[in-house]
Amino acid sequence: MIFDPWSIEDVEDYDRLIKVFGMERVTKEIVERLPQPNRYFRRGIVFGHRDLNRIIKAIENGETYAVMSGIKPSGEFHFGSKMTAEQIIYFQKISSKAIAFYAIADIEAWEDNGLPLEKTREIAVDNLADLLALGVDTKRLYVYRQSEELRVLAWGAFFARGLTRNLLEAIYGEKHLGMYISAIIQVADILLPQHSSFGGPKPTIVPVGADQDPHIRLTRDIARKYDSLYNFIPPSAVYHKLQKSLGGEGKMSKRDPMGYLTLNDSPELARRKILRAFTGGRESVELQRKLGGMPEICVVYQTWLYHVEDDDLVRRVFEECVMGKRICGECKLQLAEIIGKYLEEHQARKERFKDYARQLLEERLMLKTLRR
Ligand code: SF4
Repeated sequence: MIFDPWSIEDVEDYDRLIKVFGMERVTKEIVERLPQPNRYFRRGIVFGHRDLNRIIKAIENGETYAVMSGIKPSGEFHFGSKMTAEQIIYFQKISSKAIAFYAIADIEAWEDNGLPLEKTREIAVDNLADLLALGVDTKRLYVYRQSEELRVLAWGAFFARGLTRNLLEAIYGEKHLGMYISAIIQVADILLPQHSSFGGPKPTIVPVGADQDPHIRLTRDIARKYDSLYNFIPPSAVYHKLQKSLGGEGKMSKRDPMGYLTLNDSPELARRKILRAFTGGRESVELQRKLGGMPEICVVYQTWLYHVEDDDLVRRVFEECVMGKRICGECKLQLAEIIGKYLEEHQARKERFKDYARQLLEERLMLKTLRR
């Protein structure tokens, strides 16, 4: 079964994904062992993992581990990327021994979207300012552009010897050569925390959307293949469910601007997007009152569930919806107000981080910070 991370639109059956690709399920017992589990764990949005126990043990034993992920600088930071960023921040915050690595995948932006490096430079600064405003600790952060990180480029070329075009085609389907190169560079990204210049082998957790699993599987294979040279520890991963496009079809993607919320949206624009969103409402208010809504197919409810922190409020939204006590128009307006306020606060914080984000990327400041 080919699972193409660049063009998969949605996952209908997460249980099947677990079974077919040999992931492990995130159980209640696992969540209970995590310190202060965030809402993605509390609400079952993180559904699968590989070797999460290794990270939990590192946390329990006070051992060093890395958390690694990144962003493709092809546009504004959308709420899907925000999920990954919040996961990085969570795994960084729960242990003083955690170091975060964040790749700006500018090579992938070229290979996948045809965006030249000069164009993605500014987008990357904006994306990084978002990550900083979300709360990542820069004292334990290494952020870099793929195109400038020689260790990643060199390892990419090195690992390519262990791969054939047939193997890559079996994982990703038929792609132009650049996409395969981009995939190999991502393998090097994921293994970078284990480079000798960062202290060598260490447990690494990679929080990603379910669609990114092919990269994880490939990296774990390469880690095993090159084990005798580097003693790699196969990276662990946690997988979150994909957020649907606001139109209700496919995943939230940068390819449809009205189909997703971004951290740059004005409260008014976010409000307009939410008001147009697909719901699980009935044909009429009367029917809604009688039968209740269908939050399980409602994109508005998914936005409540994935992005509103207050557990009691989200539970109430669900209950009122299924009991017919909630009408879609009011529900959307209430959500738009909460998201609008969040965006206002986030953007005020982000404004203060813009220069710092530029410095971090242009002057490679975090390298010095990390070595101190
Ligand atoms: Fe969705 Fe809210 Fe309508 Fe329920 S009331 S279907 S949660 S928009």
